[in-house]
Amino acid sequence: MTSRLKPIRARIPLSVPHLTGAEGDAVQRAIDSNWIAPIGPEVDAFEEEVRSQVGAGAALATTSGTAAIHLALRVLGVGEGDEVLVSTLTFCASANPALYQGARPVFVDADLRSWNMDPVLLADEVERMGRAGRTPAAVVVVHLFGQLAEMAPILEVCSRWEVPVVEDAAAAMGSRYLEEGRPAGHAGALGDLGIYSFDGSKMITTSMGGMLLGRKKEPIEHARKLARQAREPVAHYEHEEIGFNYRMSNLLAAFGRAQLPALPDRVRQRRAIHEGYRERLSEVEGIGFQPEVPWSHSTRWLTAITLDPERIPVSPETLRLQLLETGIESRPLWKPLHLQPVYRRLGLRKLGGEASESLFRQGLCLPSSSSLEAGELDRICHRIKEVVTDA
Ligand SMILES: *Cc1c(COP(=O)(O)O)cnc(C)c1O
Repeated sequence: MTSRLKPIRARIPLSVPHLTGAEGDAVQRAIDSNWIAPIGPEVDAFEEEVRSQVGAGAALATTSGTAAIHLALRVLGVGEGDEVLVSTLTFCASANPALYQGARPVFVDADLRSWNMDPVLLADEVERMGRAGRTPAAVVVVHLFGQLAEMAPILEVCSRWEVPVVEDAAAAMGSRYLEEGRPAGHAGALGDLGIYSFDGSKMITTSMGGMLLGRKKEPIEHARKLARQAREPVAHYEHEEIGFNYRMSNLLAAFGRAQLPALPDRVRQRRAIHEGYRERLSEVEGIGFQPEVPWSHSTRWLTAITLDPERIPVSPETLRLQLLETGIESRPLWKPLHLQPVYRRLGLRKLGGEASESLFRQGLCLPSSSSLEAGELDRICHRIKEVVTDA
């Protein structure tokens, strides 16, 4: 049974699930089959549908995007004493799995063109470490808010020094990499391994869940084993390595299969919202947007603006609080990981200048749910103009 009732929103949230209406029947189908867990045919089908859609070699559905990153680092053999280069302008889940493995994240500053990992900083460090005979164990590159990082130079230097690349495409499912304006691959299927998140706020959802993708089958098959407590293929419980409980349930995979066909619409809808913000706010001097770089057709998972402090007398935090007063939820950009107390205490290395810091200080993420309506967009933009011009 699915509810046909449409919630009326006095409050406008940042990013919420957008149902197709087919989820209830899909989950009921799984229930009727009595295949609830562990795993099951819906999981197999969901993996195959995502895999073929993005052109990956193999796919593994997981309990979360974080679990998928952890499995990725584990099958790459990342361990004690290793360094993993990670974007600094991102969610903690991009870096924590390196620490779960006893390795040390090294944070790489952002490139102001894309807001993603600066490929020059990355290349210099990979070369420097390579020449010193200590290449990083992996690079975790994030596609911020759905915009692709500049993958060509990143993949080039990493392949030259045989450093595996893991794409954190948690919010970039549906983004396309472009070469000379033409689609040349899907976010998440460009590096050696890639991950998606199906958390409630992401492009599509399974309530919680994730997917690990690989160009090659073998590491994904290893991850498949590790994700179910590393059982050896014998009748009794036999273990030769330490595993995890990271597999997606059959019920959630059914839910995900009902969401998947809507992905192209969700990308279109979020991109249209982004354009809507640009149209309505472009007249305001001092408001900037995350640029769209020529190599990315982005999901525009979240629309993020910047407020130029020389032209706009209000801080992003003041704007956030003023929006909240009228029921509009916004959020600062990710606080750069190298500024997070927990990582500072560990004395982790950081490469580059203050691009990510300045974006954090000036930026604000605006409501971007794919279900956002034009009237709501009007209301948000009206309020933003009121706050930044009345100050
Ligand atoms: C959401 C997100 C994750 C983690 O995904 P979960 O499914 O919540 O574990 C990792 N990285 C980024 C950039 C994210 O936005």
